Amino acid sequence: MRLVLLGLPGAGKGTQGDRLAEKYSIPHISTGGLVRSVIDSGLKLGEIFNAYIAKGNLVPDEYMMEMLRQRILADDCRNGWILDGFPRTVAQAKRLDQMLEHETEVLDRAIDIRISGEEAVLRITNRRICRSCGQIYSIEHSPEKVKGFCDKCGEPLYQRPDDNVEVARLRIKVYMEQTHPCVHYYAQTGRLTSVNGEQDIDAVFADLQAAVAVLYAKKAGGQK
Ligand SMILES: [Zn+2]
Repeated sequence: MRLVLLGLPGAGKGTQGDRLAEKYSIPHISTGGLVRSVIDSGLKLGEIFNAYIAKGNLVPDEYMMEMLRQRILADDCRNGWILDGFPRTVAQAKRLDQMLEHETEVLDRAIDIRISGEEAVLRITNRRICRSCGQIYSIEHSPEKVKGFCDKCGEPLYQRPDDNVEVARLRIKVYMEQTHPCVHYYAQTGRLTSVNGEQDIDAVFADLQAAVAVLYAKKAGGQK
């Protein structure tokens, strides 16, 4: 099963991607994490990435595509993958389709986890993160047991400096302008499923599982 997760920052792509990955035994590929691991790898591609990022520039699409191509050809992607953080633009969505076609693969579905802009702002500004283990809490929806300290490891929690209202609004604006059109691109090509991301985490996951089950059933039935 080859999936793309779309949704505003705070929609839960990371959390739900992890759960889907575990459930279906396919890797959850977060492009943010992948870029960091390529940079840390010391490979040639990592040096190229670093040169762009160090100057404050975006890594050009062609290098992102090459990174993704190498990743999805890895052994653990034989049965599929879940992509999160890519595509960020319709141009990237089209490039992804071309690259997959070249590798005789096909994207099964884009899943849009829908939340409102106001909910996104709320979730981003309510987020607290453990300095030690990276566990994420929401002071609204999933607060820590002892205020200010991680349930798992007891280390202090912090708020990322970027998780403020102004930066959140800007990220949402950029998402709506650049990434949201991907929803229409996938809808027009008959590959979009939307789920309501404002339900609790388990209900969202149940909807995602139901959507993926339909896709597996179609595949088993010999339909594309
Ligand atoms: Zn912790």
